[in-house]
Amino acid sequence: MPTRGQWVVVGLDNGGNTNNATVLEPSGRFLVDSMVERPSRVLEGAAVAVEALAQSFDEILERTGVARESVRAAGFDSPGPASADGVISSRGSTNFAHPSWRNFDYRGALEKKLGLPVVYNNDGNAAALYAHHVCFGPASVTRSSISAIVGTGLGGGVIEAGHIVKGGAGFAGELGHVHIPMEGILGEGQPVPRCNCGFVGDVESIASLTAIETNLLPYWLPRFEGHELGKIDDIAQAAKAVRSYGEKGDPLARKIFELQAMAIGRLFTIASRFTDPDAYFVGGGVAESLPEFREWFLAKVRENTALEEEQEETATFALVEHLDMAGARGAALAALESVHGEMA
Ligand SMILES: [Zn+2]
Repeated sequence: MPTRGQWVVVGLDNGGNTNNATVLEPSGRFLVDSMVERPSRVLEGAAVAVEALAQSFDEILERTGVARESVRAAGFDSPGPASADGVISSRGSTNFAHPSWRNFDYRGALEKKLGLPVVYNNDGNAAALYAHHVCFGPASVTRSSISAIVGTGLGGGVIEAGHIVKGGAGFAGELGHVHIPMEGILGEGQPVPRCNCGFVGDVESIASLTAIETNLLPYWLPRFEGHELGKIDDIAQAAKAVRSYGEKGDPLARKIFELQAMAIGRLFTIASRFTDPDAYFVGGGVAESLPEFREWFLAKVRENTALEEEQEETATFALVEHLDMAGARGAALAALESVHGEMA
């Protein structure tokens, strides 16, 4: 239950399968400690998905005992590609394949539906904002950070002085599509991998589940003769299994993850000369794995991030934990920030 007479903001995380919701007090306290999920129904088109988000909104208020009048704003995040203000790309995507999504003003539609100010961020940026707050707490507004989140692709975000850097067209923080040097990452005779975005040799072409499936596993598996993963016919299934082998210390899996850590380290090296952030965060499946494995991975990322001596002394490297809740919580933090901005 919220403190009496207190206002709150709501955070809604819109995923390919489910929505998750949370409630945040101005003090920074979340009223929900677990996932509160409902089907997102995004594949059924825009109108159905907006309705599903509104249901998530109602459900989280009921669950936390918050009156609708107490809600000042809602924050919401979704996968991209979308503009900085939440208009879905005309190109469509896996989640937004239904024709009704093309150029759909997702944020505007939800704002109309809820009758409240709605603040939009893409899921990578929302998670980055959450990671930033977990690390810095009340000092967030004076700090900067970069988050790399490994999933099907590589997402994340850039936070400067506590704010998400969105950029002119909403493409800031598209860290997967930054070119990195491939020297020492590619094996002998291995072609430079192409990313879905069309680039060759960007971060996502190495550090993503897609890269394991299309590039890393096909190259490395034959070099580990008789490996159990070779018995799995479906390469997509085999790619997904690599992480559990990594946890067990399997040399092939560790090789693959070391290459991913190198790619992320090289991205962070670029960031260190670009905006020189206080903190470098790594999230995704690896960050949720067994402690020995995730600490090993983080150490490899750090090892491959070439910082100046002064930066070495002050830089923080950390894993983004509880990523499942990061979207809703980051979305809520962004909504809180916008309310504070209006009040100032
Ligand atoms: Zn790319």
